[in-house]
Amino acid sequence: MNYRLLILSILFYFNLQSQNKIFAKEIVKILTSENYAGRGYVKNGHNKAADYISEKFKEFGLNGFDSDYKQKFKIHVNTFGGNAKVTIDGRLINAGIDFIVNPSCPAVSGKFDLIWFDPKSIGNRKKMTKFNSRDFKNSFLVIDKTEITDSIQLAFVNGMMSNQFNAKGIVVVQNKKFTWGISQYQNSHPIIYIKQNLISHTDKTIELDINATLKKDEITQNVLGYIRGTETPDSFIVFSAHYDHIGMLGTNAIFPGANDNASGTSMIIDLARHYSLPENKPKFSILFIAFGAEEVGLLGSKFYVKNPYFPLKKIILQINTDIMGTGDDGITMVNAVKNHNVYETFQKINNKKNYVKKIKRRGKAANSDHHPFDEKGVKAIFLYTMGGSKAYHDVHDTGENLTLSKYNEVFQLITDFITEYR
Ligand SMILES: [Zn+2]
Repeated sequence: MNYRLLILSILFYFNLQSQNKIFAKEIVKILTSENYAGRGYVKNGHNKAADYISEKFKEFGLNGFDSDYKQKFKIHVNTFGGNAKVTIDGRLINAGIDFIVNPSCPAVSGKFDLIWFDPKSIGNRKKMTKFNSRDFKNSFLVIDKTEITDSIQLAFVNGMMSNQFNAKGIVVVQNKKFTWGISQYQNSHPIIYIKQNLISHTDKTIELDINATLKKDEITQNVLGYIRGTETPDSFIVFSAHYDHIGMLGTNAIFPGANDNASGTSMIIDLARHYSLPENKPKFSILFIAFGAEEVGLLGSKFYVKNPYFPLKKIILQINTDIMGTGDDGITMVNAVKNHNVYETFQKINNKKNYVKKIKRRGKAANSDHHPFDEKGVKAIFLYTMGGSKAYHDVHDTGENLTLSKYNEVFQLITDFITEYR
């Protein structure tokens, strides 16, 4: 082999090895960009993400059941698209980094007194009676969770979140990492979580301008496209991943959801690209579903199993991917226990090819979009990667922070599995 040919073949090899990851990186970069606003229900983020996926399905020539590949449905969702400002004794603190609000937080604005609750008074009848007799309606109760010393205190302060003291709101002081979420309703009182180093017993006031809007009957969608099988087009493999995330808190804090779940979304788009190539056309049909509103409570997948485009019993297997961005410690398969044959086949391939460190077997879990299918008796597994980044439901789950360290290996593991399975 001459020198030039050698270089060319090395380049070609390199290209084959890395093209999936490069492809995924680009999709993750786009879906986590500012324009998509955390793929929640502010700034049209969820709809922009659905449009992008639908464009990709079109590009790969996928068949659709509906116009634009979209299956629409309605949800109720609490949103924070306006201001989200918190000031402690005149010091402005940052949304997403210094504080978060309870996902069910109602709108609140004004200046209020801070009243610290002493966890040591729990169990002391005299102290509690005295505390109880106070009027908190223009005050925020401050509960410092870092001062909690036992499980009785913890249970008591957790109970206080229901606001039995009728305070204007509650401040929870904590050290642990913020993990945000998204809610279908609003509570009657605000709960604000603040980092411990930003508030102290000497602080007297909290000033808030939190704009919360409960959107009712917001229209969102699943995005579905399929490739017709060459031999048994009536049988389907389903690849699924949710594309939505939890949006924004105020006008600055974006929750980009790179690992959760731009990574899994890129995986199914990548699989759609792969199986649409003439040389990879499958014997059975393959359906790709990018679910909406997973973060709001698996709403997209729950809607789909109630409104399927063809009988669910025609699904041979669903492979759901959510959190595909690392893999340094291997992957986990949910529903591996009941779908033993699927797990064994994955294991056999991985033992031979050494794609990932281990494939952890896990039982049933209602933690992603495989679950509503499993509940309907569809053979469904859920794969997620382990190790690496700890960013999850926070502002640090960014595209730049995501390594996709075992993305290629997991992609190959899945496609090898499909070859073996058919
Ligand atoms: Zn999530």
